[in-house]
Amino acid sequence: MQLEIRVSRKAWLALALLALMSGLVWAGIWQYTPDGKLHVTVYDVGQGDAIFLRTPTGVRVLVDGGPDQEVLKKVGEELPFFDRRIDLVVLTHPHADHIAGLIDILRRYQVRHVLTTQAQAKSEYYREFIRALMDRRIDIIEAHAGQLITLDRWTKMRILAPVQILPAAAVKDPNEASIVSRVSLGIIDFLLMGDAPKDVENEIIASGQAIDAEMLKVGHHGSRGSTGQQFLEMVSPLYAAISSGAANRYGHPHQETLDLLERAHVKFFRTDQEGDIRFVTDGRTISRD
Ligand SMILES: [Zn+2]
Repeated sequence: MQLEIRVSRKAWLALALLALMSGLVWAGIWQYTPDGKLHVTVYDVGQGDAIFLRTPTGVRVLVDGGPDQEVLKKVGEELPFFDRRIDLVVLTHPHADHIAGLIDILRRYQVRHVLTTQAQAKSEYYREFIRALMDRRIDIIEAHAGQLITLDRWTKMRILAPVQILPAAAVKDPNEASIVSRVSLGIIDFLLMGDAPKDVENEIIASGQAIDAEMLKVGHHGSRGSTGQQFLEMVSPLYAAISSGAANRYGHPHQETLDLLERAHVKFFRTDQEGDIRFVTDGRTISRD
């Protein structure tokens, strides 16, 4: 009888421990489960771009990968360790500050689709990127204006540029071929500019596509070569995010861009000052996450 009591005490302890542990595991999983909202994070990856989107049903999109492996750390914190799925990777254009971090993403994650253009680069990064795409047999989608990508039942990604599809040899400056996309949930829109310069902005305006957005990921790291006044007026964002490295050699973001945003009363945030910039929306309102 005495022995039986001791055993059941042990069993009770084991059960309590098991409950505690499974509780911890569930708490761990809980933080990654879809919450019915769209989360958009402009990562602080130094001088470059990497933007992570998580839709209300948990679809994951990574737009660009920054200049190095920093993005692996960022995405690693975003997803549970046992789940390596990324539904869509967008390479806006093949410059090193956008493509370099994507090579390891393709190799280490289960990337389902890659959206890109014909624009090429004569760099080892570009060759490695193509090699990784081939090795992993990833589905490649070519971007063009007017394309509508249904991320989930509620979240759409519309491609605004490139407006004209040019063969690789005709692309002089990859920035000109940047993929520009507008991600929408309900009445809230995010406009992701890549490094598109002002003439691409003007092409988008001329194409008559809707460009108004609550959040603008400012083009080309806040360079004065992007974000024209008319374009900004038409987008009329509440918030803007600038992805640029501290003390970068280009002087990004340029003062002209910051002045323009200020005059337009846009609340802007810089990765070099704020670190990761997180936004969240339920489709009706947008706020910092
Ligand atoms: Zn860039």
